[in-house]
Amino acid sequence: MKPLIAGNWKMNGLLESRKEIGQLVDNLGEAKMPDCDVVLCLPFTLLFPSVKQLIDSPVQLGAQDCHWAENGAHTGDISASMIKETGCSYVIVGHSERRSGHGEHGERSQFIAEKAKIALAQDLSPIVCVGESIDEREAGMAKTHVLDQIKKSLPRNAALDKIAIAYEPIWAIGTGKTATTDDIAEMHGWIREYLVDLFGEDGNQVRILYGGSVNGSNAKEILDTENVNGVLVGGASLKAVDFFPIIMAAK
Ligand code: PEP
Repeated sequence: MKPLIAGNWKMNGLLESRKEIGQLVDNLGEAKMPDCDVVLCLPFTLLFPSVKQLIDSPVQLGAQDCHWAENGAHTGDISASMIKETGCSYVIVGHSERRSGHGEHGERSQFIAEKAKIALAQDLSPIVCVGESIDEREAGMAKTHVLDQIKKSLPRNAALDKIAIAYEPIWAIGTGKTATTDDIAEMHGWIREYLVDLFGEDGNQVRILYGGSVNGSNAKEILDTENVNGVLVGGASLKAVDFFPIIMAAK
């Protein structure tokens, strides 16, 4: 399975930040590109302005969220078809910063499954995020919590080879604390087993990414861990100089 190296710029980047995209594309053009997929999930305002820079490059364009409805009265939201029209191939859904930060109507798993479903209908590959809090981990509930999120956040009857799950322990996001490779291997093993339980052999087609303080120094070890099929990278995806070595670690 080809690894997926995904960058998540979150709410960072104005037009001038496109120079980082240009730099990344130049660096990759000069390098021997590993056999992996690469996507940059940019803020909505940078999607249209950046798409031309990515033509003929190995980097695809992604968004960071979409609404579950096709269109309608949803002030401030954005639909999967709008995202598709900008040239995106991927969309993140259910990031923990949205699950926790958008109130009781925001990001419950059932809505995330609907978002993933409408993304697939628009030929976008959803990256479905899951992960436990530090309290859940310390209470020994990490496995139950993550598998429950997966069960509720994945659409049924979907093209599983187009879906990626990103396991992102909340306590590791943006904190500089990375889960140990033993912890990652254990959780990714549970996720893989569960996907096969849910979907039979097709469960092996879902890519399972790790996210949480991935950087150029730890990426190789993480990407070499069993059942890790890629990484979702926040802070270290903002600058070409930081993201490039993570992509090269996919070799
Ligand atoms: C993320 O935003 O999904 C993430 C993992 O962030 P960071 O790499 O900064 O921890």
